[in-house]
Amino acid sequence: MRDMFQPAGLVAYWRPVDGVRHGLSHTEPPYPGQERETLCGTTVTIMMPTELDWLSPTCATCWDEARARRDAVEREADAQ
Ligand SMILES: [Zn+2]
Repeated sequence: MRDMFQPAGLVAYWRPVDGVRHGLSHTEPPYPGQERETLCGTTVTIMMPTELDWLSPTCATCWDEARARRDAVEREADAQ
């Protein structure tokens, strides 16, 4: 289930924050206590997710942004 959020080229890390699963830039793995900007432009503090937290709904804005980034990566790969 979680695999669908991580296509071949990793474009985002997903972390549940306050009941919503947000996307984070793939450049650095998130760790609990860290302040990060989400793909939808919110600054959040990363928490240690529980099994229940992973069932949180995905942030639609982050999802669209992650999809756009993945498509861009794939377009780049096609062009080579
Ligand atoms: Zn978001």
